[in-house]
Amino acid sequence: MTVIGLILAWLIACTVALAVVFRHAMAAAWREPVLRAPVLILESDDWGYGPIEQAQALRSLADVLARFRDDAGRHPVMTLGVVLAGPDTATMRSLGLARYHRLTLTDQPLLAVHEAMLDGAKRGVLALQLHGREHYWPDCLMRAAAERPQLRDWLISTSLPRTEELPSELQSRWMDATALPSAPLPVDRVRAEAADEVRAFVDAFGAVPDVAVPPTFAWTRDVEAAWAHAGVRTIVTPGRRSESRDATGRFIYENGEIRNGDRSRGDCLFLVRDVYFEPAMGHDHRRAVGDVVAKTRLGRPALIEMHRMNFLPPGDTADRALDQLGHLIDEVRKLLPDVRFMSTSELAGHYRSTSDLLERRMTARVHVVLRRFAGISRLRKLAWITGTIVPAWAAYAATRPRPR
Ligand SMILES: [Zn+2]
Repeated sequence: MTVIGLILAWLIACTVALAVVFRHAMAAAWREPVLRAPVLILESDDWGYGPIEQAQALRSLADVLARFRDDAGRHPVMTLGVVLAGPDTATMRSLGLARYHRLTLTDQPLLAVHEAMLDGAKRGVLALQLHGREHYWPDCLMRAAAERPQLRDWLISTSLPRTEELPSELQSRWMDATALPSAPLPVDRVRAEAADEVRAFVDAFGAVPDVAVPPTFAWTRDVEAAWAHAGVRTIVTPGRRSESRDATGRFIYENGEIRNGDRSRGDCLFLVRDVYFEPAMGHDHRRAVGDVVAKTRLGRPALIEMHRMNFLPPGDTADRALDQLGHLIDEVRKLLPDVRFMSTSELAGHYRSTSDLLERRMTARVHVVLRRFAGISRLRKLAWITGTIVPAWAAYAATRPRPR
């Protein structure tokens, strides 16, 4: 056998071996649809129950978003993860803490917030998603309050308090984290509440939420199934599932990744939100723009997480966050002129259908999937060590799409 023959035999053997060893990761990368155009969606959770100043913050946000359009004339959309209720602090102040009393988004003090949400949705710049009836499990919060004075103060605040002030573990709605490690909640109550909160969303907004975003990204398969049964069709995730917290409060994650387009129990479609842009925490828009470009190169949408806390209370920090948001959209528009703006619900619709947003040309798909393979760190290293990087690179060059 000639030297060239030996090299070829080596490369073929190594390619086959790597394909066998990494078959699951490679198959998952291949299964995930490839988007043909950049997609930018802003996702902001925690809006709803809380300070009345949210109404003005939402209107300011809507004004920023309305300044921009994509080539199809669409404004950028910020999805709001809505929290539909919280403690009726005035009632609990007067009646004591023996029982939990609920104040909802359609009760008088919160009507201005509710109206600002609907106005933004009408302007095509806000889209409403279910975050939770509450941002906690009321029974757990009440039990924890019996032991912790600061929680009692929170429940009887003179103004409507912010759920962001609660201890992080108690903000996880679908587990009992009154003591750590967390314990599961009774399954029948979880199922009933997941269905009830969808009905509460319908009461507030007149339609079933198409998209749900689990608070603190912790939820169970029972929640998924109950949401799906109640009409939810899409679940936003961070790319992995957690149902519990350990003794230090950290999330315990299940093995395995969730990818865009995967399906839940009950057939909800999963989307992955993993670009983080929280200007109030010092994040700069330039880094987020880089993340959006990186997502696009991998044929994935950029769902950008940007919590309500960036825009509240009114003041310098909130103004800076609005400025940063404007810069982000402006720069993405310049760097990726074919960027498309849409809501998360619309994006899920594209994944479900035979939309022209999904790449169907085989070579173009292979090209992007090779980039995804390169993102699997061990595979990339072994490809360099064994020399299989050479045929991989040749395949990458040969599948490069011609400019449209
Ligand atoms: Zn939240």
